[in-house]
Amino acid sequence: MIFIMFYNVYLYYLIRLLLQTDSLSKITFINMHELSIALGIVKIAENEIANAKAKKVVLIELEIGTLAGIEFDSLDFVWPAAVKHTVLENAEKKINIIKAKGKCLDCEIVFEIKNIYDSCPNCNSFLKGIIQGKELRVKALEVL
Ligand SMILES: [Zn+2]
Repeated sequence: MIFIMFYNVYLYYLIRLLLQTDSLSKITFINMHELSIALGIVKIAENEIANAKAKKVVLIELEIGTLAGIEFDSLDFVWPAAVKHTVLENAEKKINIIKAKGKCLDCEIVFEIKNIYDSCPNCNSFLKGIIQGKELRVKALEVL
């Protein structure tokens, strides 16, 4: 976790050096994927606020699977910039991490998937169905 944070900072300085610029906006370049996801979440929240005729979001609860392709540290990292001056600016963000699970197509046991290429721990088969872990959704919004 800490490694990724330092890695981002390291990349930032590296890129800054390459571009010979002090612009802080270049940092978003690194976390483009998570940034676009965060901006998508802001869009969802803004639509909900408009529908509910509310003013601001107090709490936003997300469900993200471990196979959703989201780097949690990167999402935390880009979050403050993404929500600035939006309805989510002061909202508490809660992330429910959904551990990926698969069902072996050969022996039918259900097991936790840590890596997408994991084989069955029981029979070593690589054939599996993914039961959960690809989720990326806004589970709840608390508005005022
Ligand atoms: Zn199996």
